Amino acid sequence: MDHVAEPHRAGGAPAALAGLRGVGPALAAKLAKLGVHAPGDLLFLLPQRYEDRTRLRPLGSLRPGARVVVEGEVLLADVVFRRRRALLVRIADGTGQLTLRFFYFSGQQRERLVPGSRLRCFGEVRAGPQGPEMVHPEYRLLTPGVPAPLPDRLTPVYPMVEGLTQARLRDLVHQALGRRDLALTDWLAPALAALPDAPRWPDLGTALRYLHEPPVEADLARLAAGTDPCQRRLAAEEMLAHYLALRGLREAGRAHRAFPLPPAPELTARFLQGLGFELTAGQRAALEDIGADLAGAQPMMRLVQGDVGSGKTVVAAVAALQAVAAGCQTAIMAPTELLAEQHRKSFERWFRPLGIDVAWLSGSMPKRLRESTYAALAAGTVPVVVGTHALFQPGLEFRRLALTIVDEQHRFGVQQRLRLMEKGAGDSGLRPHQLVLTATPIPRTLAMTMYADLDTSVIRGLPPGRTPVTTVALPDRRRPEVVERVRDACRGGARAYWVCPLIEESEEVPSQAAEATAAELTAALPGISVGLIHGRMTAEQKDRAMQAFATGRMQVLVATTVIEVGVDVPEATLMIIENPERMGLSQLHQLRGRVGRGAGASTCVLLYRSPLSALARERLDVLRSTNDGFEVAQRDLELRGPGEVLGTRQTGLMQLRVADLVHDADLAPLVQRLGAALLAGHPAAVAGLRDRWIGPDSRYRDV
Ligand code: ADP
Ligand code: MG
Repeated sequence: MDHVAEPHRAGGAPAALAGLRGVGPALAAKLAKLGVHAPGDLLFLLPQRYEDRTRLRPLGSLRPGARVVVEGEVLLADVVFRRRRALLVRIADGTGQLTLRFFYFSGQQRERLVPGSRLRCFGEVRAGPQGPEMVHPEYRLLTPGVPAPLPDRLTPVYPMVEGLTQARLRDLVHQALGRRDLALTDWLAPALAALPDAPRWPDLGTALRYLHEPPVEADLARLAAGTDPCQRRLAAEEMLAHYLALRGLREAGRAHRAFPLPPAPELTARFLQGLGFELTAGQRAALEDIGADLAGAQPMMRLVQGDVGSGKTVVAAVAALQAVAAGCQTAIMAPTELLAEQHRKSFERWFRPLGIDVAWLSGSMPKRLRESTYAALAAGTVPVVVGTHALFQPGLEFRRLALTIVDEQHRFGVQQRLRLMEKGAGDSGLRPHQLVLTATPIPRTLAMTMYADLDTSVIRGLPPGRTPVTTVALPDRRRPEVVERVRDACRGGARAYWVCPLIEESEEVPSQAAEATAAELTAALPGISVGLIHGRMTAEQKDRAMQAFATGRMQVLVATTVIEVGVDVPEATLMIIENPERMGLSQLHQLRGRVGRGAGASTCVLLYRSPLSALARERLDVLRSTNDGFEVAQRDLELRGPGEVLGTRQTGLMQLRVADLVHDADLAPLVQRLGAALLAGHPAAVAGLRDRWIGPDSRYRDV
């Protein structure tokens, strides 16, 4: 085989990019931000969308919203002062006219735009005061007699990085496409050939070239929807790589021995008696699976899926008891400090009466406390520890760690889960059992593919006595009514969450919005205690706010989406969500799941900013019409519009480069069959795919 420069192989050395024209250290650093370390990586950096710059549009035919190339003769170029100083340029082509509007321009720029000269522009058309206009179009002056051919391919638009222009990226990708030494091995081909009914996808090289430089006749709508066969081919390949890596993990896991943890009927019975409620049939079924796994000699690798509020925490607690009874340790990890803290309280409340100590570890705890917890865990004097990412940090040692529980798995990477599990290997040579919990409702075949290292149990149904949450959508001009409603409800003793809008992707802004809203509500709700919680508060502040809300001292909790996962205050019955149109459906479902957890009837108010697009309205309607997480996920899938940014890639199972687990979920059965074909006879392809998409340094491998 020729030299094959696969992505990742080069190990991130900027030198690997030096073969490309015009790439120095500064540019290499910017490319690294996009995950591009070697020329081959450029090929897998796929465009986010495309522009059609292949055809000139007559000025008389322009519609607002279109992004088009036009040409015309300059009629006039004037600087005007209305609200803002602007350079206005009018061009005409015989079919109509177009105004170009520049707010930033140089004197030289203005001088060159003399009447009579010819311009070619690319930009988005919008409706202006005097007909169609473009604001800050890309443009160039045409020289009479000099041909200026239009591109004969669609123009890709790549993910943005500061200081890296699209033109630059296009040039680099074009160079990479032209390099013969990058001829990538098509690992998928033998697997596709082995399946007579496999889709007829283009080969890897064709697909990559097509996606970077689509021909004029390419179907833009299909590309935007992510359903072009070339995209599907790459998505399948990426999913396959992860599937194979996870299968490898599973095999590796099987080769280990685990702590056998026999059933602990006596301790479990005492625990259940103290609970004050009966387990649901769904919880019992999941516990049967778990109990059998734990008693076995191989490490359990089990995912428990259950909708928000289905009672996964109790299930985790019963599993932990089986480890405690065998004299072993259990570590319970949650993705946010808020949630970890809540679990700590639940476990303390449940386990203290049984004489079982519960330790606590978080990143923000004082060093002295952390050290004493480390000592206790290493000595094995405490059987259960609850915490955050702090649980898998170097230096922390366990003694007889037999069970790791990861809550809200979708917030962690596979790697983090494995790092926690590896904590158990040190002192005994035995592997801990793994239990992972998730509320992400994904179809079974997808779960089997993207959690291929795990067995799955599903908790069906919610605990009895819950009144389904009533969901209403209101425009923000009715905010005052909503505030009034909150006031009346709180005067009657109710508790409410008020979730603030996500304004920008900045970290600062959501907390500021929350602060402003808290101040406003404090003023509007005299006599009612309004509190605040957001990601920028210290753990102690958050805890204090949560405590006050949980005990009812605080009645309105203004929050950012930090409360999205896991927070459990059964007495809260009102959930107000601002700007729901900016959030994904599953996120909204998670947020709504914070209410409806007790006996009281609960309401969720979606306070949207009008006007709503038809699609946004339909999406909010989904939430109004069902409380079932699986159905929300299914409808979310159907309603994903092309080009919808906020909603994409939200399944969050893992970070993927090409595949979208919502759009591409249907590929799962095929991916499994392709995987079987490769595992049966193509070890080089298994390794090659893993290297290409996951990287040889991945922790998938060294376990
Ligand atoms: P999730 O599955 O979303 O993590 P939790 O474990 O937080 O749900 O449980 C939600 C609430 O339901 C908690 O207050 C919990 O104590 C309660 N709960 C759990 N199981 C039952 C049950 N079988 N009957 C009644 N309440 C239950
Ligand atoms: Mg939970």
